[in-house]
Amino acid sequence: MTDLGHVKTLEELEALASSCTGCVLSESRTTVVFASGTQQARVMVVGEGPGQQEDEQGVPFVGRSGQLLMSLLSEAGIERDDVYIANVVKCRPPRNRDPRQDEIDACKPYLRRQIELVDPRVVVTLGNFSSKLLMPTTLGITRIRGQAYEWWGRHLVPTFHPAAALRGGESVTNDIRSDVALVRSLLDGRLASSTEDAAVGRDGGVENPEDEQLDLFGATPL
Ligand code: SF4
Repeated sequence: MTDLGHVKTLEELEALASSCTGCVLSESRTTVVFASGTQQARVMVVGEGPGQQEDEQGVPFVGRSGQLLMSLLSEAGIERDDVYIANVVKCRPPRNRDPRQDEIDACKPYLRRQIELVDPRVVVTLGNFSSKLLMPTTLGITRIRGQAYEWWGRHLVPTFHPAAALRGGESVTNDIRSDVALVRSLLDGRLASSTEDAAVGRDGGVENPEDEQLDLFGATPL
């Protein structure tokens, strides 16, 4: 499975995913965790993969991480009906291990089509897996977060996974809070739009990344 461009609706896409056997994760999952949210959402959040609770309930981010994330979004006035949540892999890796590259590659067409169909204004990537899937960079999340990147006609805002905030305490939570405030500003149009090959800094100015590793704009998405 490489291209799902022929799939016209999210419902059709979810139906396809629900019986997917595209990778080995299909053997251990309870439920395919496709997404939550509507096609009208202006913000799309991309996490890593379902955990135990998500696997049991079929809904992403229902655990403590999800509650923290939704509370930070709500604090910034971004309500659940304006947020579409999906994961890099739709099935739970056993014992919550990291998803493997072959699993990520197998599942990519679903995420790509979700982004195309929802067409959000801002994509928020949580942690290294989803950030590095969408951004061709070798830098870690600590280096790339804190700013928005112009990405295929929309904004990309990488931030920490909320699970890292649960482990890392107030300072990580505050970093996510700050990145969510950036999302709010982008939605409100309070940041200047960037040029096609530049990153938007937190102050609204346009800057060109000097580090060649942060060349986000030459690659195709996903
Ligand atoms: S993780 Fe993705 S590719 Fe693998 S079985 Fe689940 S839906 Fe299919």
